[in-house]
Order: sequence, then C-alpha cells, then structure tokens
Amino acid sequence: MTLKGKKVTVIGLGKSGLASAKFLLAQGAEVWLTERSCEKNILENAGHLEKMGARVEMGGHTETFLKGSELVVTSPGVPKSSLPLQTARKRDIPIISEVELAASACPGTMVAVTGSNGKTTTCHLIHRMIQDAGRKSVLCGNVGFSFLDALAQIDSRTTVVVELSSFQLEDSPHFHSQLAVVLNLSPNHLDRHLTMDRYREAKERIFLNQTPRDTLVLNYDDTVVRAMAKKAASRVIFYSKDLLKQGVFWRAGEIIWKENGRELRLATTHHFRLSGSHNLENALAACAAWTALGGRPETIQNTLDGFRTLEHRLEPLGEIRGVCFFNDSKSTTIGSTRAAVLSLATPLVLIAGGRDKGVSFAEIEDLLEQKAKAAVLYGEARQKIADSWRDFRRFELEQDFGRAVRRAFALASPGDSVLLSPMCTSFDQFTSFEERGEVFKRIFEELKTERM
Ligand code: ADP
Repeated sequence: MTLKGKKVTVIGLGKSGLASAKFLLAQGAEVWLTERSCEKNILENAGHLEKMGARVEMGGHTETFLKGSELVVTSPGVPKSSLPLQTARKRDIPIISEVELAASACPGTMVAVTGSNGKTTTCHLIHRMIQDAGRKSVLCGNVGFSFLDALAQIDSRTTVVVELSSFQLEDSPHFHSQLAVVLNLSPNHLDRHLTMDRYREAKERIFLNQTPRDTLVLNYDDTVVRAMAKKAASRVIFYSKDLLKQGVFWRAGEIIWKENGRELRLATTHHFRLSGSHNLENALAACAAWTALGGRPETIQNTLDGFRTLEHRLEPLGEIRGVCFFNDSKSTTIGSTRAAVLSLATPLVLIAGGRDKGVSFAEIEDLLEQKAKAAVLYGEARQKIADSWRDFRRFELEQDFGRAVRRAFALASPGDSVLLSPMCTSFDQFTSFEERGEVFKRIFEELKTERM
C-alpha cells in the first residue's frame, strides 16, 4: 500500500490511533486526526503528533475534516455510527483498521488468533512455545503492545503472534495471515455487532483471504467454529478434547497429533497447571498452531509444564478461613464465566456485574442453580442480570463493587469459593478489568488482615 503523500484520516487517538498516526507519518502520509474526547492523556498525544506534522481535531468531529481523504484508519473502540465513519462510507473512502495497516507492512510469519474467550492465554502459550524452541517470536495486537508498534522488532525470520478481537477484524477487509486460529464463539459484544451472525462474520475475516498455502486451526468441539472449515480455502487443522481421525486431540492425559492414520504424541497434560477444561482447549489450540508452524514436539512439554495462570484469569488468590478466592476479572462474557464455574470443584459464591454488553444472562442460570450457593450482583447490570433469572433466586444486589465482595465473603462458609467472574465489562466503576482485579485483590488482603 503506497501511503506517501496520501491524505489519511485517523479516527480516535488512543493507543491504536497513536500508533497508526506515527506509522503513517513515518511513511510520508499527510495525517489528519479526529478525536471525540479532550482527556488529558489524549491531549498530550495530540500535542506530540502535531509537532510531528499531523493536523488534529479534538473534542468532536466535523464532516469537512475528511475532505480530500483517500483512506481512513479507525480504532477498535470507535462506534460505527460516529460521524467520520458515516461520512467516509457516504464518500466511498476505504476504511481500515490499525491491524490491517500493520499486516500489510509485516515482513514476518503471522499467527493470528481470535475467539470469544481464551485469546490472550492461547497467544501467550504459542509465543512461549516458539521462544522455548529458540525461535524469535513477537506477541502483539490486543495483548501487550499494538501490532504497528511491534513492527520495529519484526524481520523476515520473526513469528508474530497477533491477538485479534472482532472489532479489529471488522475493519480489516484485506487482512491475511499465513496461520489463523479460531478458538470458540459465544455471545459477546452484541451491543456493537447486534446479531450473532454479524459477530461471527467479523471473526471469520481472520481467514477469508487465506489461500491453499495457508493454515487454519479450528476448534472441532465448537459447532459454529467447526462449520467455518467449509468456508476456508486454506488447509484446516482441527483440535478437540475427544478423539479425531485427523488433527490434534486429547486422550487420557496425552496430546496427540494424528495425520494420515499415524499418531505422534506431542505432550502429556499431567503437569499442566492451568485449571479447567477450557484451558486444556487453549493448550490444544496452541499445540495445533505450533505443529502447523512446523515446530517439533520436543520442547512443548517444558512450555506446558512451566506455564502459569495469567493475572485476572481464574487466578487463585489464596484462602481466608477456609474460603478460597479466585480473581477472574477478565471474564466479561457468559462463556468465560461458565468456564470458570465449571472448573471450580467447591460450592461457590459468584460476584458478577459491571457494564452489560448486550447479551442474555439467562443462559448461565441452570449452571448456577447446580453449582452456586449464592451470587452477589453489582453495578449497572445488576438488575438486568437478576431479571433474567427465573428459577435461580439465591442472589443479592449491591451497587458498589467493594460492598459486593465483602457480602460474598459473608455468604461463604469454609470449603466454599468466592469467585469474581463478572460476565460484564468493568467500565461502570473502573477504567479496566485490570483495575477491577487489583481492587478485588486489595479487598482480599484487607479481609485477610481483618480476620487475623
Ligand atoms: P481473551 O483474550 O479472549 O479475553 P483470556 O485468555 O484473556 O481470553 O481469558 C479471558 C477469560 O476467559 C478469563 O476469565 C479466562 O479464565 C476465560 N477463558 C480462557 N480460555 C477460555 C476458553 N477457551 N473458553 C472459555 N473461557 C476461557
């Protein structure tokens, strides 16, 4: 893509917009930036870019700002209804994401990973597998730093593990990755995509431009993901927790790769420390990706055995008076909370709530009826969650997150678990899921000292 001398408008000045603007300026494009907010850190970014030669519009968008633009680069959080996106569509100006911009300039081999849940964990696993085998890997996208910022570290021998959300894929019509992985699909971000079909279509962009020389790794156990094989032009490798005639699967504690009737043992899972069958799925996906990259199995065992739970993802905090605490603040979907509830063996008190993403909470009711002693629902979504449950009535409502945590502990008895697995985003009371998880951990520490 030739960018030199082109007028390119960047929408949004967060992490992704900042990276796009810097990249475009370095390529000699004429960069125009439009940003709705006027927050302090955004103003700082704007000042910095103006010094580098960009034109900036802050605190709102105008239609005239796009005059003469040949390309629009949008950021994941920008709503489709925003004025510059509407204007660009009206004027037939191509709209692309930061990811597409980076992918078009990436000299390395790409491994792109998407799914509703497990992306970060799986990306870390693949990244470690590559590194443990002595090869160069760069991890970027939704995890760590932006793909464009990562380009400086990438050469033709680098494998680039990119975590991609549906938002990023949505505006990536030409995105092409040599290896793509789709983990699962459960309702998520329906406030933005409106229907499950549109959400699935956004995810499918990860492989739509693949050719027979490329590889697509798909979860056989997820029927929607399995069906994607029919739409792929690339070689498909399935993975499953059950036996497969061909692909990567789990059998009695071993991960097996089967091809043309021949089996190869890749690793055992006896010392794999991440709990829950969902994490076994992530391990299988990573093994399949590693195999597709032509990796040898020798180093996989060490990677799996040495891998530890990532922060805020079903992270065990310890116990107070026989009650175990788990921080699963990253769980912002029903699917991931379902996975967390299924992986705990003890009766549990669930803390859920925050800001709703437009999904139905009714789907988890049966599971809670079986496994939860109680739930404490907090924040903006508390009433919506409560109203969606007809039979499971063992819940209490609290507006404030801190009070909800303390209430959950009061409801738990020795031998129970307190699980923070919110099913919603954190943005009603926090700036991020990380901050919510940190506050949870702080309250855990306070409760510990109070109980001593
Ligand atoms: P993502 O990057 O897709 O959000 P993470 O690895 O950060 O995925 O995990 C997010 C949440 O989903 C955590 O609560 C984690 O325990 C849960 N999770 C991880 N892998 C899976 C999976 N394969 N299926 C369902 N839930 C999962």
